[in-house]
Amino acid sequence: MPHKGTLPARVSAEITHAAESGGKAVNITIDDGPDPVWTPKILQVLQDNGAHATFCMIGPHATANPAVVEKIVADGDRLCDHTVSHNTRMDHSPEAYQKSQILDAARMIQQASGGVAPMYYRAPGGAFTPYSRHVAAIHGMRPLGWNIDSRDFYRPGVSTIVNTVKYELGNGPTMLFHDGGGNRSQTFEALRQLLPWLKSQGYTFSFPVR
Ligand SMILES: [Zn+2]
Repeated sequence: MPHKGTLPARVSAEITHAAESGGKAVNITIDDGPDPVWTPKILQVLQDNGAHATFCMIGPHATANPAVVEKIVADGDRLCDHTVSHNTRMDHSPEAYQKSQILDAARMIQQASGGVAPMYYRAPGGAFTPYSRHVAAIHGMRPLGWNIDSRDFYRPGVSTIVNTVKYELGNGPTMLFHDGGGNRSQTFEALRQLLPWLKSQGYTFSFPVR
């Protein structure tokens, strides 16, 4: 079992995108870490701008970087389960595999954080199934989608990342970035430019609805 003691209250199994605060808000979500180099830099940018984010973590990366996970929690940011193996074809895999990918990662993240459980579940590459959403939901993790893919993963250049986010801002509040998967200097710089700009446009920083 991923949680010691009582199981957290189940949440909806529907994929969430909306901002908890309502109003003119964005949800920054950051996937594939934590990373010992890039996550602390991104945390600093968030802090410099009074912003918060939801970090979708790969279980073994959390296990390898517990101090980074603890810093994320201490900063008031939220944790999200992004599985053990980041298998973007897991929707074609047996249910037992899907279940262990989700619950084993949840346990790793909770152990690394010093006891704070992930509040969301994001399937790698969006490879959700009704079953995996149900497993996550009954363990207190709301399935988490996105509205805006910054496409930072492919390192297209800082200005392209910034312009993609600005262009897609009408799609909805939840934005996808990455702190894992290699050199994230472009993501770091794009956030350094985007966060003050979003504030100047009247946006606040929220979390996805659970
Ligand atoms: Zn991912």
